[in-house]
Amino acid sequence: MNQSTDPELIVGIDLGTTNSLVAFCDDRGPRVLLDESTQALLPSVVRIDADGRMTIGREARDHAVEYPRETVHSVKRLMGQTIDQVRGDLDYLSYEVAAGEGAAARLRVHDRLLSPQEISAAILARLREIAQAALRRPVGKAVITVPAYFDDAQRQATRDAGRFAGLEVARIINEPTAAALAYGIGRSGEAETIAVYDLGGGTFDISILQIIPPSGADASIDSAFFQVRSTAGDTHLGGDDVDRLIVELVQREIRAQHGLALEFPPSTRQALRRFAEATKIRLSSEDSAAIQIDLGDGRTYERTITRDEFETMIAPWVDRTIDACRRALRDARLEPGEIDRVVMVGGSTRIPLVRQRVGAFFETNPYTAIDPDQVVALGAAVQAAILSGSQQAALLLDVIPLSLGIETMGGAVAKLIMRNSTVPCQATERFSTSVDGQTSIKIHVLQGERELAGDCRSLGEFHLRGIPPMPAGIPQLEVSFHIDVNGILDVTAVERRSGKRAAVQIVANHGLTAAEVDRIERDSISHARSDMKLHRIIDLRVNAALDLKWIRDAIKRVEGEIPPDYRRELDGRIAALQRFVDESEREPQSVDADAFHAAKEELDRASVRLHELSIARSLRDEG
Ligand code: AMP
Repeated sequence: MNQSTDPELIVGIDLGTTNSLVAFCDDRGPRVLLDESTQALLPSVVRIDADGRMTIGREARDHAVEYPRETVHSVKRLMGQTIDQVRGDLDYLSYEVAAGEGAAARLRVHDRLLSPQEISAAILARLREIAQAALRRPVGKAVITVPAYFDDAQRQATRDAGRFAGLEVARIINEPTAAALAYGIGRSGEAETIAVYDLGGGTFDISILQIIPPSGADASIDSAFFQVRSTAGDTHLGGDDVDRLIVELVQREIRAQHGLALEFPPSTRQALRRFAEATKIRLSSEDSAAIQIDLGDGRTYERTITRDEFETMIAPWVDRTIDACRRALRDARLEPGEIDRVVMVGGSTRIPLVRQRVGAFFETNPYTAIDPDQVVALGAAVQAAILSGSQQAALLLDVIPLSLGIETMGGAVAKLIMRNSTVPCQATERFSTSVDGQTSIKIHVLQGERELAGDCRSLGEFHLRGIPPMPAGIPQLEVSFHIDVNGILDVTAVERRSGKRAAVQIVANHGLTAAEVDRIERDSISHARSDMKLHRIIDLRVNAALDLKWIRDAIKRVEGEIPPDYRRELDGRIAALQRFVDESEREPQSVDADAFHAAKEELDRASVRLHELSIARSLRDEG
């Protein structure tokens, strides 16, 4: 790139209570920057030793139990606050908080008084270092996010922390606004009302935002056009509570089964918490999780928690978040149905029950396609790109630049939405299975203009499971694509006989530059002829294989009744078609498609009599 046209480099930072991240947006779209051990999340934890040396991040967090008094976590709760404002938090903090000048909340570590800004600055400086290493360029500016309810003092404290870390704060933006920007909300130019539901480890926030789009077609949407209509939440509600529920359950049962009044030392309690968290995370993707704990003296505690049991246990916890959503709507004078989009943020929104309840409450399918731990940082990076002037950047347009489809049998592509379709749009296709007794079907979502899956870009895949075994061709699989005004693609697969359903959500236009779209289009034109041929060969192969299977089965059924001459003819035609099938697997490009087609037709014609024999046989068998 020409240095003189290189836009000013600004990163986006999510300075979180538990974890922080730094992201950057170029013409491929936003991405999170990784540290030297390829981690995106930097724990917002700082240890200060007796000499005043600071350890930041994972290492500080992992040894927090050993050094409770000198390990500072959750410092965000103290930013720009007075000691009176944080009284409610003190029970949750392992270090000492004292009053500084003007009753400002300060930390006392090794008899030194430190400001929360200094601790945040250490975290920001570490993020800056990570960004510089990842981008191999100096980084001097950042967009930093804060909760929507932060007041002026808290925002100012965040700015100061940035300055202490050697960063010019280009803009402070609201976390929910950043999340909306990451999804490209607002680009459609329509006035939208958005709910951002943010359920993390320790805090819950719900924000209702309104976009007031700028007039004029070219004006790019940025955070300035998002208005906060209301916020609600709970500064001590999050995934940690669920971990605690599991720990309490385990402790209760151990006590009941073994008569042990367990008073665990802190390190064991910590281990138990980690273990409970892992169990919870498993239950987000599996139907049950087995627990086994060695209690010593040959005693063990074993049990399985099912998804149903887990959901019953956490239902009141989810209810508390829904109550807050209700309050936020009331304050904004809105009904649930008036919310156009719901954006999910925070690790705990991976819990299926949370998604389901939030979707049901707001009467809309929530946005979950972007990693809920990264979405705020990614949105901050989008805002940074807009400010630096490099934002024609990510391709989020009102047309779908490349066709979207799914992989079908044999590796071909069925396109559901064609290139240049305007959004919103939708399409549905029916499919079936090619193998008897198939109980699971893989749906592979693809983007591109070529005819073969291998030549298209893979956007994601998922499985539709639990289909009752049926003969090939009987299941009725319906795959629907739905793209909304923001370019978010929902793919749903339903097997109509059993009602089984599975879905995935994808940001269809992420990760592609305009130049790449051009190249993909050019490629598709230059390959059009050979691609069409390949697609035809694949279809022939799939259908011929099904024919051959049916004919061989039928021959077995009526073995003794086939006249020898006819049998010879059939065998000859079967062998001829099988040769084409084999060759099409080895070297599809060299197969003569017309000859293949002719061989298939000849076998079709020759098998009419076999068909009759087979039917006659069936009738006899039944009679
Ligand atoms: P955050 O504060 O946004 O980083 O969210 C962290 C919280 O999300 C913690 O309580 C994690 O245990 C929780 N979490 C992360 N992944 C999952 C998952 N797959 N299922 C349920 N909770 C999760």
